[in-house]
Amino acid sequence: MNSNILEIENLHVHFPIHIGTVRAVENVTLDLSQGEVMGLVGESGCGKSTLGFSILKLLRPPGIIAEGQIRYHGHNIVEMSERELLGIRGKRIAMIFQDPLTSLNPLFRIGDQFVETIQAHESGVSKKDALERAGYMLKRLGIAPDRLHEYPHQMSGGMRQRIMIGIALVLNPDLLIADEPTTSLDVIVEAQFLDLLNELRQQFNLTILLISHNIGIVAQMADRVTVMYGGRLAETGSVEAVFADPKHPYTQGLLTSIPNIKLDQTQLHTMPGAPPDLVDPPSGCVFHPRCPRVMDKCRREIPLSFNDKGHLAACWLYG
Ligand code: SF4
Repeated sequence: MNSNILEIENLHVHFPIHIGTVRAVENVTLDLSQGEVMGLVGESGCGKSTLGFSILKLLRPPGIIAEGQIRYHGHNIVEMSERELLGIRGKRIAMIFQDPLTSLNPLFRIGDQFVETIQAHESGVSKKDALERAGYMLKRLGIAPDRLHEYPHQMSGGMRQRIMIGIALVLNPDLLIADEPTTSLDVIVEAQFLDLLNELRQQFNLTILLISHNIGIVAQMADRVTVMYGGRLAETGSVEAVFADPKHPYTQGLLTSIPNIKLDQTQLHTMPGAPPDLVDPPSGCVFHPRCPRVMDKCRREIPLSFNDKGHLAACWLYG
């Protein structure tokens, strides 16, 4: 039996603008199985957040899914109507965003924001019952239920982030998309948050797509990792395989760029060049202008994905 909860196949996401078409996601294929954590990493603008938003068809205009399928439990989300999506968005697939202060409504008490979420998806639930569920969820997140009467500005950054998770999980989704969930947190709160996410993953048997530019967090949390570059999938595999033996020169560069206190480094390693223009991307391999191992073929032909026991790299060095 196929245990994949999510299957993305040949996904293309485009943003037609006045100077051309931004090819934000190109030909991405990946899957997530029940209960696993997949880390999605890459530089800003590589398409990882766009991919996350596409899964819920929450692309900002003029973004469109130009091609491909996103199957959730075998049902193609791309072909679903807005009405059909209402039964999935928030209820079966939840998302937490980068900044909890802007994601929570400052004008409403925390309790009311829980009630609104529950009542929008489950008709017939009274306000009293919804608040009871919200209080129970807060307790599990280590926040006293009486704080449901407070407004977001009365909470610390870490508490707001936990409340965002609570609102995301109160409907018992089976897939959580976490888009840079620790960006606005300091290191101590970040560590607490990651512990909590791990705990909730066990409790709820959650599948998590963890989008982050922070490789350390992905190494700590994820079972598998996917590296994106220029809207394309560069490499994917188990965290152990990719981090111990990165195949793609971009992944190698990313890992070398992480500061290491054990090494006597006088200078930080950086990757020369800049991310590609996605309106007019380079021919062949999109990474070729920055690649230290570029070959003639790389400038002409888009590399195929070579698969070594589930460790995939889109690079002409293999095959
Ligand atoms: Fe570098 Fe060529 Fe591999 Fe692209 S295909 S990453 S340019 S070696």
